[in-house]
Amino acid sequence: MSDQPIPYGRQSIDDDDIAAVVETLRSDLLTTGPRVAGFEAGLASVTGARFVAAVSSGTAALHTAYAALGLGPGDEVVMPPLTFAATANAALYLGARPVFADVDPETGLLDPVAVAAAITPRTRAVVAVDYAGLPADYAAIRSAMARAELPIVADAAHSLGAHDGGQPVGRLADLTTLSFHPVKLITTGEGGAVATDNADWYRRVAGFRAHGIVRDQTRLPRDEGPWHQEMQSLGYNYRLSDVASALGSSQLAKLGRFIARRRAIAARYDQAFGRLPGLRLPGRRTGAESAWHLYVLRVVDDPPSRRAFFERLAAAGLGVQVHYLPVYRHPYYAELGYRPGQCPAAEDFYQRALSIPIFPAMADGDVDRVIETVCRVAGVLFG
Ligand SMILES: *Cc1c(COP(=O)(O)O)cnc(C)c1O
Repeated sequence: MSDQPIPYGRQSIDDDDIAAVVETLRSDLLTTGPRVAGFEAGLASVTGARFVAAVSSGTAALHTAYAALGLGPGDEVVMPPLTFAATANAALYLGARPVFADVDPETGLLDPVAVAAAITPRTRAVVAVDYAGLPADYAAIRSAMARAELPIVADAAHSLGAHDGGQPVGRLADLTTLSFHPVKLITTGEGGAVATDNADWYRRVAGFRAHGIVRDQTRLPRDEGPWHQEMQSLGYNYRLSDVASALGSSQLAKLGRFIARRRAIAARYDQAFGRLPGLRLPGRRTGAESAWHLYVLRVVDDPPSRRAFFERLAAAGLGVQVHYLPVYRHPYYAELGYRPGQCPAAEDFYQRALSIPIFPAMADGDVDRVIETVCRVAGVLFG
């Protein structure tokens, strides 16, 4: 038994990945070369989306997706608060207002009934988060919205490679954003992508990530000369480099294996913890297959003893984490006027949740150590 702490998530990098990066470093182009397009084609194939644009982070992907929808001051975006702050921050970047709708108490996924109640004449989009890797119920969200024909964005930072009803993440929402941060399903160091079937949104995405500069001759209204390119909208430098894209393609080739390993670890945890007193297993949704970015246990006692549970697991060398403080409870959001208590299911979920280690490079011995530790601590606290 090792005393090294086991993190809740980490990258899996092998010699293939390193070789792909080194080969790119020796090539002519370090950015915006053939490897970006290659990575985008790979992502299009995994997600089933017609168009994919690689960008510099998952946060940039959200900002870019919201910009492609034309979100701006006065617009409202409905989203769950049980997410990383970036989901909401990207709306603030554009002057739009996040409106938080509550989550399903079992899965932590956006509750379609709460979405319907949150829609106003100012709502311009709905964003769902595939919390922990489980796809949100996009069909139910769409039908709950009924007459409001609003675009739905999937923040799929946790769910690349997951499915619902046989359809891959990337085909479930109108726009899908991905993150390739090292703890996510695959990594490029920092990186992200936007996927969509909509050619118009894709054109805006491609402009937004590269200063709004257009080079395509067919879209230039006048002929200044063969050098001519022009800025037609305000964009950012949100490009992903060729170096990062080479790593991305190498990682993407292993996504199936990574998810199979995550699923096998989750199955062992389910079996080990299913009958432990005091704990609830991660919520499921019929027909949906999680990518298992996170394995989130919840304590059931009242008041929740999550803090004691967390501290004892951490003291035993497990790199446990909590996902997430509801976004509106961050001080910055409180200053904007958001009040605690507005999404009781998300707050209750937050009080009880604890993420334990799950990542493809975990050895069987690490999984055993997590199981033994969780069982022992649960026995002390809840036995
Ligand atoms: C990681 C994450 C992001 C942001 O991705 P970065 O690549 O770190 O910018 C956005 N939303 C969710 C739900 C995430 O987990």
